[in-house]
Amino acid sequence: MKKVLIIRWCEIHLKGKNRNYFEKLLEDNIRHSIKEIPCKFVKIQGRYLLRDFDEFNEDVLIQKLLKISGIHTISVANSVPSTMEDISNIAVEICKYKKGTFKVETNRADKKFPIHSTDCSREIGAKILSSNHDLTVDVHHPETIVNIDIRESGRTLVFTDFIKGMGGMPTGSAGKGILMLSGGIDSPVAGYMIAKRGMRLEAIHFHSYPYTGELAKEKVITLGKMIGEYSNGLTLHIVKFTEIQEAIHEKCPEEYMITMMRRFMMRIAEIIAKNVGAQTIITGESLGQVASQTIESITSSNSVVKMPVLRPLIAFDKLDIIEISEKIGTFETSILPYEDCCTVFLPKYPIIKPKLENVEKIEKALDVDVLIAKALENVETIKL
Ligand code: ATP
Ligand code: MG
Repeated sequence: MKKVLIIRWCEIHLKGKNRNYFEKLLEDNIRHSIKEIPCKFVKIQGRYLLRDFDEFNEDVLIQKLLKISGIHTISVANSVPSTMEDISNIAVEICKYKKGTFKVETNRADKKFPIHSTDCSREIGAKILSSNHDLTVDVHHPETIVNIDIRESGRTLVFTDFIKGMGGMPTGSAGKGILMLSGGIDSPVAGYMIAKRGMRLEAIHFHSYPYTGELAKEKVITLGKMIGEYSNGLTLHIVKFTEIQEAIHEKCPEEYMITMMRRFMMRIAEIIAKNVGAQTIITGESLGQVASQTIESITSSNSVVKMPVLRPLIAFDKLDIIEISEKIGTFETSILPYEDCCTVFLPKYPIIKPKLENVEKIEKALDVDVLIAKALENVETIKL
């Protein structure tokens, strides 16, 4: 028996005249993602089909499809010749161990098929009923829907389950952003959420060698790779932040350490964003989560850049963020106990509500442009 994967998209059909553009992007992204697995890609009305793959690749394909933004649902269907005998045999087979209520729904795309869809559903439903006494029919709220899709190709797809895809919009449909990627829980989730909306990503990470070690860097590279799987790859820019931190530590009041660091990070992120053609900066900030994420702190860091800053987690509780991070597979890596640059010179009592005018005054002690120019001199860029 042949298996076929049915791939459906979601919001794309809402895009009117641009519909073809979105569909083409999604098609290209799927083809790119599965290019190493032999199979046939077919486009039909409102859906894509993957067929002619080896059975042992079924799960590999599904796992890949689950990481492609723009895909709404996936079904694993059985493909059989379009005869009533073949269709009902397979329908009976896949309902063999099911219990509860069901109904049969037929889509007769092949108008040459001699039996009308309602008759087809009724006939197949009767066969299922007589072969499985644990099932009863409920046409309004069935627990199982047996879908029969009679295609023009002379084959029929029979399936019951819908696997929820990533949703969102196809990668490449929403410009490019630079993700500020720490080794924590939040920023990978923020990257995932923006990638889901179709934005291509590059990432920037600040590290404080030798205060933070090689393992901390490796951890961020691993997280970057993980996010890259949802965004068609990712380029990571690693910026050495040590000198800037030492200068702040030396010249500014202790409680302003993080406030000052944030302003440098944002400025450098904006410069790198412009260099790589990104239009926005993305952070994992969540309102009130820590001292550096009060509205006053955000105002201070935001005021040094002109580019829009996207903060997809701003209204999320930590537990909700953790839930997504577990779902996308980054959590276990994020909680590995390696130091982040923000933990270096961490003040005992960071300022919670910094006043912008004070921040600007304090910053005058630093040669901002020189420090930034130096940091930009040896950025390590890795394509993940
Ligand atoms: P995360 O879990 O993402 O590290 P957090 O709760 O630890 O977030 P902060 O340390 O205040 O929060 O960082 C806020 C945001 O600033 C992060 O979500 C991230 O986008 C950015 N950021 C923090 N540290 C770094 C870093 N070393 N390199 C790049 N971006 C960083
Ligand atoms: Mg952090």
